Amino acid sequence: MEKIINLIPYGKQHIDEDDIRAVVEVLKSDWLTTGPKVQEFETAIAGYVGSKYAVAVNSGTAALHCAMYVMDIGPGDEVILPPMTFAATANAILYQGGTPVFVDVEADTLLIDPEKVEEKITQKTKAIVAVDYAGQPCDYERLREIANRLNLILAADSCHALGAEYKGKKAGSIADLTVFSFHPVKHITTGEGGMVTTNNEIFAGRMRQFRNHGITSDFRTREKQATFLYEMTELGYNYRLPDIQCALGISQLKKLPMFLERRRAIARRYDAAFMGSSHIQPLANKPHTLNAYHLYVIRVLQPDRGKVFQWLREKGIGVNVHYLPVYRHPYYAQRPNPSFTPCPVTEEAYEQILSLPMYPSLTDEMANTVIREVLDACG
Ligand SMILES: *Cc1c(COP(=O)(O)O)cnc(C)c1O
Repeated sequence: MEKIINLIPYGKQHIDEDDIRAVVEVLKSDWLTTGPKVQEFETAIAGYVGSKYAVAVNSGTAALHCAMYVMDIGPGDEVILPPMTFAATANAILYQGGTPVFVDVEADTLLIDPEKVEEKITQKTKAIVAVDYAGQPCDYERLREIANRLNLILAADSCHALGAEYKGKKAGSIADLTVFSFHPVKHITTGEGGMVTTNNEIFAGRMRQFRNHGITSDFRTREKQATFLYEMTELGYNYRLPDIQCALGISQLKKLPMFLERRRAIARRYDAAFMGSSHIQPLANKPHTLNAYHLYVIRVLQPDRGKVFQWLREKGIGVNVHYLPVYRHPYYAQRPNPSFTPCPVTEEAYEQILSLPMYPSLTDEMANTVIREVLDACG
């Protein structure tokens, strides 16, 4: 029977007939890119998270770059972030010539440790990027207090956390700038895509220009005004998200509450199953937070995580490891980094963590299979 390779992946998109119809409709319309769907998607996301503005771009990484750009990160500027994240969080700082400064995480949540943030702040620090790892919001009250007192911008990489809440506020309405991704493994997908939400009108305006080569108007607006003149006043990129993809995003967003409900139900099932195990330790949930569960991460205390990973992969369970600490990627390890200090909590966690399958179409039966195999593997 067991000849199946990765029968159950760790993450997967959920596309239905409504999504397909929405995309086909755009294909038959006049605007394939930067038409009416962009604003419609932006308004829908802003409305959902409770922010004043939302700026759509063609990846979460582009969204991070936009955020670094409007924060005026440049050579000599330091940006604080945790090493337990996808490399793109740090890469975006490098795109702007800034210096990533890694701050260790808390052992039970793997979220940036506010206690340790202040130790790493210098005259050069300009911003903090909190990462809502696995889908749980960081301690924004304490991060906000530090940011305000020391005059720093607080940004959030909430690529894991669309739909998550901190003290009743949704991710996307808490930090000065919040970044989301619509990659297929994330909560909703546009194939590739991203969004930055903010309440700051100047940030929003500059990001709209930055995603369009640094040009002050877009083609559709010029057509409406019957003018040909456009001016490029800043060095931007082509980070535009096409209407085709925005239509998919709008359709997907309607299903987000259902997706979240399902992710949370799977998490409850996993929680209950591993409660009695002394070898398996799921990440902790802090009071006042509502987890969006992009990932369900356990620590394997025993036996060796590598062996457990191997065993589960052989059983067709697509477990994964999120993440190798960013500074251990060869590119980062080889760069001179005078501000670097080791992050022992992250290092220890990296040896133990395992992401279990988590996506809306994972059935109870499949979750039970995962549970059975994980318990078998860990004893
Ligand atoms: C997915 C992700 C990104 C990058 O998003 P892309 O859309 O793949 O560019 C950045 N940060 C984190 C934490 C992510 O999970």
